[in-house]
Amino acid sequence: MITRHFGIPVTSPGAILRRERDLGTPLGLETADTTQHGGLVSDKIIVELIEDWLRLHGGHGFVFDGFPRTIPQAESLQSILVRHRTPLVLAIWLDVSEETVAERIASRLQCQSCGFTTSLSSGNFAERPVCPYCDGPLVRRNDDDVEVLKKRLEEFNGKTQPLAAFYEKAGVLRKIDGNRDRETVFGDISRLIEQSA
Ligand SMILES: [Zn+2]
Repeated sequence: MITRHFGIPVTSPGAILRRERDLGTPLGLETADTTQHGGLVSDKIIVELIEDWLRLHGGHGFVFDGFPRTIPQAESLQSILVRHRTPLVLAIWLDVSEETVAERIASRLQCQSCGFTTSLSSGNFAERPVCPYCDGPLVRRNDDDVEVLKKRLEEFNGKTQPLAAFYEKAGVLRKIDGNRDRETVFGDISRLIEQSA
């Protein structure tokens, strides 16, 4: 949506990893294997991939979606941006309540072949929804039970929450209420990007 609106390239660790896997690079195949078995890709690999992407796409502004997620990632990103002489101008924090997270997870669909995730509410899916990337079957994720959600929230509170203070201190943090509908939230994000351009 941001790319269409502003012409700024956007990426996320998930998108980069999917592309590596589609290209069949050794790293892509290895990380696909890791994530398929429920493992997490290391900060080191994520950061390297982000830097490669930045080298190719970061010339005239860029947006990272869902990155960094940890303080070590944020620190690595800082050194990368210094190397590329690209200061970080804006860190948008989407404040979302645990109830909203639970609701959104309940409506999430995942591709059984490639792991792409989307939401039931994000499109008009046919009776048997298929993946826009690989035509694989999209199904409700059944691993998103209460226990998994609890674990993820703990991880978020422990590892991601500290980033708010990190970017607040750097003077670039802006908070948005993410519990509202997509269009309203996108409107707020657009304004922040325009103001920082
Ligand atoms: Zn797929």
